[in-house]
Amino acid sequence: MASETNIFLRCKSLTTIVIDENATELTAYAASELQKYLQKAMNCTFEIKRGTPTPGCFHLVQRSFPEDRKLFDRTWIKDMGGWLELAGENPVSVLYVVYDFLKSCLGIRFFAAGEAFEYIPRTISLSFPDDYKEEFGSTFEIRDFVNRTNSPDVLSFAVKNRINTILGCGPWKDGSENCSYENARLIHSYGLKVRGPGHSWKHFVPNSLLFNEHPEYFPMKDGRRQPNGRTACFSNPDVRRIFRVNLRSYLHDHPYWDIFAFWAEDLPDMHYCQCPECSKRSTTDWYLTLANEAAEVVAEVLPNAHFEFIVYQGTNNPPQTIQKFFRDGENMLVNFCFGQTRDLFTPFAERKHTNDELFELYSNWRSFLRNVGYKGKTMLMEYYNLCEYPNTGPCGRALMWPLEVMQQDIQFYLRDGLNGFGAFTGFDRLAFPSPWKHWAWMNLWTNPNLDLETLKTDFLQCYYGDNAQVVGAYFQKLEDVMFTKLSEANLAELEGLGAMLNGLSGERFDIIRVHLRLAILVKHLHWAFQCDNRADFESWKKQYLTYQQDNATLLAKMTAPFPMLWFDFILNRIGWLPDGTKRKIRPGTEETLL
Ligand SMILES: [Zn+2]
Repeated sequence: MASETNIFLRCKSLTTIVIDENATELTAYAASELQKYLQKAMNCTFEIKRGTPTPGCFHLVQRSFPEDRKLFDRTWIKDMGGWLELAGENPVSVLYVVYDFLKSCLGIRFFAAGEAFEYIPRTISLSFPDDYKEEFGSTFEIRDFVNRTNSPDVLSFAVKNRINTILGCGPWKDGSENCSYENARLIHSYGLKVRGPGHSWKHFVPNSLLFNEHPEYFPMKDGRRQPNGRTACFSNPDVRRIFRVNLRSYLHDHPYWDIFAFWAEDLPDMHYCQCPECSKRSTTDWYLTLANEAAEVVAEVLPNAHFEFIVYQGTNNPPQTIQKFFRDGENMLVNFCFGQTRDLFTPFAERKHTNDELFELYSNWRSFLRNVGYKGKTMLMEYYNLCEYPNTGPCGRALMWPLEVMQQDIQFYLRDGLNGFGAFTGFDRLAFPSPWKHWAWMNLWTNPNLDLETLKTDFLQCYYGDNAQVVGAYFQKLEDVMFTKLSEANLAELEGLGAMLNGLSGERFDIIRVHLRLAILVKHLHWAFQCDNRADFESWKKQYLTYQQDNATLLAKMTAPFPMLWFDFILNRIGWLPDGTKRKIRPGTEETLL
């Protein structure tokens, strides 16, 4: 007989967690998660049983839900007249409902990956009223997270916050170069979808060993054909046949994709063939030609997978010649990933600064998709990682991202009919120095209309406890100062902010001080650049370049598993070239300089 607990329904204590006789491994895992956190939060020991529910239990189950097109991955917690049903409408939702319950009924929060970032208040007892029912769901259908580290803690954290798709099978390296059955199984074990491989044309283009016999297969650049391991002469039907054969063989070896992300190789050298025949069509036209042929192969080998087409770099403009998607795009996903030059300090739809041009591009694609009768899905990968740089956002506003802008963007994309969201390295920057912005962003994907002030108060109280007000005031002041026009006085004010944290000790506060140091470095770099003071610039640059190493231990602990990427990119945008010329700000962004 299981022991009594302090959770009551209809005056009876709940004592067991019941799953169906034939419940899946994922449901069994969900039950063990429920058991684990009930133990942590309430010190109650629950037994997990297989069978049919009886009064006095939690019944964890997948069931069909009434038709409703507004929310995805729906769950409910419901009094079934003596037992509490925790139900999800699909396999992963059976895991979501456990976390929905822990968050809603026990006030537990999962702010970042790993136990150290979980907030578990002590609950003495819990009583549910008769006929209790609470429902949950996510607004966007695709909620994607990039796999940087392949850490089980990260995957678990993602699913705890209603992420349902993971980009990259294995730790991301030039696409899913580390993909394997084992890595795919790890992701699938959390009920998450595997999206990839990403930049992987090296596996599909003709092998360079064919060059001597068939130089015509290879891309022409500056009048000369040469293998580049990235593209090929796609106007040649033989090349496209080889491409399909290689793709089929790749899919045979790697058959675990839920979303097959068909991305060309990434920078620096992604050039397409410049031969006279290839030059007759735009890059996007060749990309769509290849995509349509590849989609046919993928549909044959992996009939349940979605096929992803990416709007990125060379394919930022819609096709001009090809006016059709394979099967009208029925099983396709178009991913808009064009925001590298976005000004992220004003809402996208206001079309200010660099956003104007990007909005035009986005609108052109949306019209193209409408005009060709595209029936597939769409998502957007946002670039909150690059916006600190002067060419991509107002100079000097280092490292501070306005959450209100993110919310307005998300609401705009929702109205515009997008189906999903993701990011690449946005996560590593947003998660620093506290998990607040990152965690809030993920929450907005599930509910774009959240009240951010309420959410922020909740975060500060749970994460900083008695120091919530002090830290809240510091962050507010920091944002104000970062958003103020650069000047000597502005720099002095920024440097003085650390005093607000005097007396606070512990890693959660140390990382804020380390973050402030980075903000100061970045502002100084911009100021020296604007003042034409190269000597100062070089001196700040030295300190900037050793920053990660100087703070390695704390950064590894507090920003893992979001290791910083592209840290040095800022130095490609501002500063001086080795020959002494000053770098130029990208045209069109000068007006945004503070
Ligand atoms: Zn060619």
